Amino acid sequence: MTATRTALAWEYSPAPEATDHIRLRDRYGLFVGGVWRDAETYEPTINPATEEPLAEIAHAGKADVEAAVAAAREALPRWQRLPALERGKYVFRIARLIQERARELAIVESLDGGKPIRESRDVDVPLAAAHFFYYAGWADKLRYGLAGRDAGPMGVVGQIVPWNFPLLMAAWKLAPALACGNTAVLKPAETTPLTALLLAEICQEAELPDGVVNIISGDGATGAALVRHPGIDKIAFTGSTEVGKDIQAATAGRDIGLTLELGGKSANIVFDDAAIDQAVEGIVNGIFFNQGHVCCAGSRLLLQESVAEEVVEKLWRRMGLLRVGDPLDKNTDVGAINSAEQLERIEALVDAGEREGATRRTVACALPERGYWFPPTLFTDVAPVNRIAVEEIFGPVVSVMTF
Ligand code: NAD
Repeated sequence: MTATRTALAWEYSPAPEATDHIRLRDRYGLFVGGVWRDAETYEPTINPATEEPLAEIAHAGKADVEAAVAAAREALPRWQRLPALERGKYVFRIARLIQERARELAIVESLDGGKPIRESRDVDVPLAAAHFFYYAGWADKLRYGLAGRDAGPMGVVGQIVPWNFPLLMAAWKLAPALACGNTAVLKPAETTPLTALLLAEICQEAELPDGVVNIISGDGATGAALVRHPGIDKIAFTGSTEVGKDIQAATAGRDIGLTLELGGKSANIVFDDAAIDQAVEGIVNGIFFNQGHVCCAGSRLLLQESVAEEVVEKLWRRMGLLRVGDPLDKNTDVGAINSAEQLERIEALVDAGEREGATRRTVACALPERGYWFPPTLFTDVAPVNRIAVEEIFGPVVSVMTF
């Protein structure tokens, strides 16, 4: 008996995640010294899929940065005197509370940042909890981890994170710092502050000693003030190369630790002996995951000439199956672009690609009327000197070159 495969045009019914159980406050202040502190100014945080405001968010000025660093400094001796095993228990408790509030955190992450609920539910939030669990385990084992070396805390750490994985980035930064015995001042990105502020609530629920974690919202000016504060012992930054350079210059000559994790332009390379179908699936996952807002997104695709045509055609066909739209719909593959500014940056680079002679193909899909959207886009005939080959696009766009 032979089976015949027929191409099916799949119809999807809407499968939206319910949001009626989400209780956001109208306004979030700054989490400093274990309490919520008012700021002089507030800005709304916007849902990028609807352009509607979600809550008013405090903008931390210099005095607020000062207060947060002072609170972290005051908390430091008590936190460091605590036996490592006890510190680990707090970190463990934060992990458990993230798990308990996982559904809420995933929905808020998608509302505030535009990423598909499938990703925030199955990737961002479980990984954030996993990081706290993992580092909870390290707290009392540091002495045995690195033979001949004494791993210890740096002191008060300033942590600045971007908007593409807001809660996960906060977890990457806070969990190891706390396990080691540091106290922290964390600044989330201005377009995605909400899950970091929910994490502040979780720190309260976990009864973390006051001042061990301080979370201050604000924009680049808040970040710049934190970087320049003389009471900081270490800066950990993830974000753009441009801002990373500014931070490097601002911290040069100071006795301060610095970790920079900056923008990328990764390549996927396909040779003619590759399993082409699997390669295409890998490329799609690599570039369209989180709308391409990923530092290691394979936005440059290098194809061996003998298979280039086949890969491009299969990739194009696969791109046509991506479902673009409501981030809260469980069938959505590509959600909203994080902000109007980021959409502008993507559009400017795509225009440059066309002007410089590359051939553009953009998937035709119905996009919602409001919100920030960019359909999956493929460039061929790209020259290595073109801007789309050199500069990070940080959006759902792939540039193909051959060798
Ligand atoms: P960005 O550098 O503009 O902002 C990142 C954070 O820095 C935000 O919280 C912002 O408020 C703050 N900031 C801005 N100016 C500052 C200043 N002068 N001093 C101190 N802080 C300042 O980056 P973005 O556009 O928000 O994020 C996207 C970039 O992040 C991309 O380039 C991406 O590749 C990069 N990124 C890299 C990684 C990695 O692992 N290498 C991971 C995620 C994102």
